[in-house]
Amino acid sequence: MDSLYNGEFSFSNNTSKQDFELLTKALDASLSGIIITDNRQPDNPIIYCNKAFEDITGYHRSEIIGHNCRFLQKDDRNQNARHALRDAIDNGTNAVVDIRNYKKDGTLFWNELYMSPIKDGDNQVNYFIGVQNDISRRKKAEDEVKSNHAKMEQRIQERTKDLRENEEYLASIVQTVRESLIVLSPDLKVLSVNDHFINTFKVTREETEGKKLYDLGNGQWNIPELQDLLEQILPTNNPVTDFEVAHDFPHIGKKLMLLNAHRIELEGQFKDRILIAIEDITDRRAIEQRKDDFLSIASHELKTPLTTIKGYVQIINRLIKNYDDEKLRESVGKTGLYVERLNNLIGELLDVSRIQSGMIELHKTPFDFDRMIHETVANIQQGSGTHEIILTGQTGVQFNGDESHITQVVTNLLSNAIKYSPDHKKIGVHLSVLSGFIKVAVTDHGVGIAKDEQAKVFDRFYRVRDVQQKFPGMGIGLYICASIISNHNGTLWVESEPGKGSTFSFTLPLTSNHADKNGGDDAR
Ligand code: ADP
Repeated sequence: MDSLYNGEFSFSNNTSKQDFELLTKALDASLSGIIITDNRQPDNPIIYCNKAFEDITGYHRSEIIGHNCRFLQKDDRNQNARHALRDAIDNGTNAVVDIRNYKKDGTLFWNELYMSPIKDGDNQVNYFIGVQNDISRRKKAEDEVKSNHAKMEQRIQERTKDLRENEEYLASIVQTVRESLIVLSPDLKVLSVNDHFINTFKVTREETEGKKLYDLGNGQWNIPELQDLLEQILPTNNPVTDFEVAHDFPHIGKKLMLLNAHRIELEGQFKDRILIAIEDITDRRAIEQRKDDFLSIASHELKTPLTTIKGYVQIINRLIKNYDDEKLRESVGKTGLYVERLNNLIGELLDVSRIQSGMIELHKTPFDFDRMIHETVANIQQGSGTHEIILTGQTGVQFNGDESHITQVVTNLLSNAIKYSPDHKKIGVHLSVLSGFIKVAVTDHGVGIAKDEQAKVFDRFYRVRDVQQKFPGMGIGLYICASIISNHNGTLWVESEPGKGSTFSFTLPLTSNHADKNGGDDAR
C-alpha cells in the first residue's frame, strides 16, 4: 500500500490490477463498514472506505476520503471511547470501542469500532484499519434491558421498603395490643410471641420461641379438645373462637384465659401460620360473677317481702269485700295488679340468674300444644284492650315439653308484639307443623328492629337504643325465651324491618331423638 489513487488504493507493483479489483469487491461486499487511514499523513486522513461505510454513515465516498474520522462524531466530542482510540493511535495498538457517531442527516448511531494498526518493518504504524458496525439496535435493546433492570430494581426497593414498613406497622400493632399473641408454624411450633405474652406469663423468649405449643409451661395448652381445633385450622380454615382455658399456670397461678386462633397469611412473606390471641379474663369473669350473684341475691331478697305483701293484699281484698267503698276497692284492686306486675318482673330476674347458674328446672310432660296456645292468646287478649290477636293454623300435636316454660315464651312474644306496635292494632299468631317441627310465628306491624340489632335482642339486658326511652322493659324477656327454646332443642329467631314490623318465630322438634339432647327431665 503505497499511494492514494483515485480515492482507492494502488497496490505495489507485484499486485495485479485484477487482484486489486477483486479485493475491493470483497471489501464492498462486507456488511461492516471498513475504512483505512494513513497515519503517515498529517491528521491521519481516511484513504479508503467501502460501500457499507457509505451506507452506514450516509456520506458519499467523496465526502469521506481525506477527512479525519472525527467528523463522524460531530459536536459529541466528550466521549470516553475517544480517549481509548487516542491512546491506541498513540501507542499503535488495537482498540475496540462503542462510540456515538452521527450520520450525514444528523441521526445518532452507535458504532462498534474495531481499530487495528498496520506496521512496517521498522514497527512504524503506517495505516489504521477501522471496521465498524451500526449497533444502534443492539445498543437500544441493551439500554432497554438496563432501564428495565433499573426499573425492576427500583420496584424491588420500593416493595422491600413497603414490606419493611408493613412489617414495622404490624410489629407496632402486635406490640400495642393488650392481648398475648403467639404465631405458630403449621406444625404448631412457636415462631414468635409479643411482649404482652412475655409479661403476662412471666416467661422468657428463649423458653418459648422454637418450642412446641403443647410443651410450653406446665402443659397448659395441652388440651385434647383445643389440640383438635388448632389442628383443623389450616386444613379447614375454621378459626378457634372463645375457647376458655382455666388452669394453674406456672409463675402466675390460677387464671382463666380466652383463646381465639386464626390462620394468617401475609402475601409474599408467609402463609399457613396460626395466630393465637390470648386474653386473661379472670378478673372480668369474677366481676360478672359478682354481678350475677348480686342479681340472684337481690331478686331473692325482693321476692320474700313481696310474697308477704301479696298475701296481705289478698287478706285486705277479702276484708273489704263487704265494704261499700268503691274507691277503696278500686285502690286495693290496683295495688294487687301492680304487686302482680312486680312479682313477674322479679320472677324474670330470678329466671335470669337461674339460667346463668344453670339451675333451670325442666318439667316435661306431654300437653296439648294448640290448647296451650289458645289459652295463652285468650289470656293476653283479655289483658289488652288495645290490640286484636288473630290466631291461625293448628298443630294437632301432643307436645312433650315444659308447658309453663313454653307458655312463658308465647306470653313474652305476644306482650312484646303489643308493646312495640302502639299504632298498629293487629297481631298475628300462626301455628304449623313442618317436617317434624312445630312452628309458631308471632307477627306485629310495629316499630321493627334494624338488621344489625336483630341478633343482639336475644342477649341478656340488651335493649334497642331507640326504644329505651319510649317503652319500659329490662331487656331480659327474649333472653329467657331463647334459653327456654334452646332447652327444648328448638330455635328462636326474628325477621324484621324497621317501621314495618317484626315476626318472632320458634320451632320445636317433635321427634324424641331431637327432643331430648340433655337426656331427660333433669334439673339444670
Ligand atoms: P324488653 O322488651 O323488656 O326490653 P326483651 O328481651 O323482650 O326486653 O326485648 C329486647 C329488645 O328487643 C327490646 O328492648 C326491643 O328493643 C326489642 N324487641 C323485642 N320485641 C320486639 C318487637 N316485637 N318489635 C320491636 N322490637 C322488639
